[in-house]
Amino acid sequence: MMDSKQIQRPQMILVVDDQEINRDLLCDILAGNYKLIYAENGKEALEQMRANINDLSIVLLDLRMPVMNGMEVLEVVRKDEQLRRIPVIVLTADKNAELQALQMGASDFITKPFDLREVILARVGRIIELSEGRQLISAAEHDELTMLYNRNFFLEYANRLFHYHPEMHLDAIVINIEQFHSINALNGREFGNNVLRIIGNEIRSFLAETNGIASRIDGDRFDLYCATNGDYQAILDRFQKKVSQYSNSVNIRLRMGVRPWKEEVDPQILFDQARAACNMVRGNYQNSLMIYDEDLRMKEMLKQRLLNDLQAAVDERQFRVLYQPKYDVQVDPPQLTSAEALIRWQHPDLGMISPGDFIPLFEGNGLICKVDNYVWKEAARQIAHWKEKYGFSLPVSVNLSRADVFTAGLVEKLTELVKANGLNFGDLKLEVTESAYTDNAQRVLEVVSHLRQQGFEIEMDDFGSGYSSLNMLSDMPIDVLKMDMKFVRNIENSETDFRLVELILDIAKYLDLTVVAEGVETKGQLDLLQNAGCNIVQGYYFSRPLPAEEFEKLIQREIAIERGKKQ
Ligand code: C2E
Ligand code: CA
Ligand code: CA
Repeated sequence: MMDSKQIQRPQMILVVDDQEINRDLLCDILAGNYKLIYAENGKEALEQMRANINDLSIVLLDLRMPVMNGMEVLEVVRKDEQLRRIPVIVLTADKNAELQALQMGASDFITKPFDLREVILARVGRIIELSEGRQLISAAEHDELTMLYNRNFFLEYANRLFHYHPEMHLDAIVINIEQFHSINALNGREFGNNVLRIIGNEIRSFLAETNGIASRIDGDRFDLYCATNGDYQAILDRFQKKVSQYSNSVNIRLRMGVRPWKEEVDPQILFDQARAACNMVRGNYQNSLMIYDEDLRMKEMLKQRLLNDLQAAVDERQFRVLYQPKYDVQVDPPQLTSAEALIRWQHPDLGMISPGDFIPLFEGNGLICKVDNYVWKEAARQIAHWKEKYGFSLPVSVNLSRADVFTAGLVEKLTELVKANGLNFGDLKLEVTESAYTDNAQRVLEVVSHLRQQGFEIEMDDFGSGYSSLNMLSDMPIDVLKMDMKFVRNIENSETDFRLVELILDIAKYLDLTVVAEGVETKGQLDLLQNAGCNIVQGYYFSRPLPAEEFEKLIQREIAIERGKKQ
């Protein structure tokens, strides 16, 4: 087998010295092992370096020369990204200059008059080997596009800094580009790459001023582990400015999450937390910086906790279903017509948790279907119980999430529930929030139509909070509009809001839909709605959501009123 060394070209050395005798001496020592080229002053040396940039293994540089001296050469080389990859050994008789040359970036020095032949060969060989090794390592360590560390090396070095330099107090910073995939899709990969390069460049110059390391972890995520002055907004602004300068036609926004240094918290955890902070400002156009603090930590921990505890909550029946009454307000006195089932989580350690805190979590990971199934089952059982006990059925509406609508077999499941409890389809009403219709509207419409054909009544929840257009509304398979609470909130003080409510009522009348106003808290709100022709009202004015036993009192009162009327 052929030794791979044998087929390699000899390594090339540039010898720079104005004295012919010195050049000859070095030639004598090195020519046997290396290919030599020469220059007689600094200017020539730079020309030769540029001309042979890919072939040169090392430069032997005299310091005292005419035209341009060795120090001046080092000065140029140090600032040139290409040239500084070539190692330089200085040739000097001046002990003081040696140190200065090393500080200027020289790799080593050879003293004049020249040392023993073997010493020179060894030094040259060693420096070449070192620099080649370094370049190899450098290629493996770095992301090609930005020249920042890649993920694995970054974490390795971050850990070393953490363990060996605890005095450095390094913050974890995560930078992301908002909607980077769309930027790529709309402007091309090369444009996207340029944006990444610009951020990479700016990070490198930022790190040159502070202390630390950085990585492009993947895609558009940059991690910085560095010492800062704590002015994180200024740091974000700096990067944002560079990016905006590059592309004034395309709007590119960065977001940043920071986990400030904390004793004994290792980089892995710091970066997890910085990333969590960064994710919290995703899509937030008011604020693109989030600093991880105790508050956020608590929220994050609570979130994890709730996600972990969900199964136990289902198994141990920690969920409770409350019922909030809905009243027909077009009769006098208003009459109880139905109820909405609303969930609560009675957590054994954390107490009562409101759905606003856990529903979005479970929506995020699909577990919401489990929760909803529980509520539907419970509500169906309750309706059947009251029907049996009081001889008439009080319809209850349950909430459907987007995820429910996309689950196979939904119609069958709900149908089964109705049948198993001996109910009519009209007894279990379904609330689907308006926003569920926004993306993939077609699919949602299909499922909802199917449910309605089966006999279920569909209420569109939070109407006016989303973007359903009026012409869509006329085709929607719905029976009831539940006006979003925000319309009701201000009708007493805002003429505009009241006009909007009137408008919704007009549209609903035209489309033959019943309107439910929710969030009604005062007599004033009730009067206005009543006069404007609103059919049904739900809100604290009548009652908060109640446990089934307490809700029963409302049923009993209703029965008493009916009896009174008859007498
Ligand atoms: P939503 O479906 O719009 O329910 C109405 C919310 O308004 C309920 O909050 C109710 O307690 C509250 N509310 C009722 N009257 C008033 C009032 O006069 N003033 C004010 N300020 N608020 C009033 P809750 O029970 O905290 O539920 C919040 C949201 O959580 C619900 O909004 C619904 O989107 C969701 N949710 C509740 N239960 C379930 C469930 O079983 N499944 C699903 N998927 N979501 C649920
Ligand atoms: Ca609802
Ligand atoms: Ca609602």
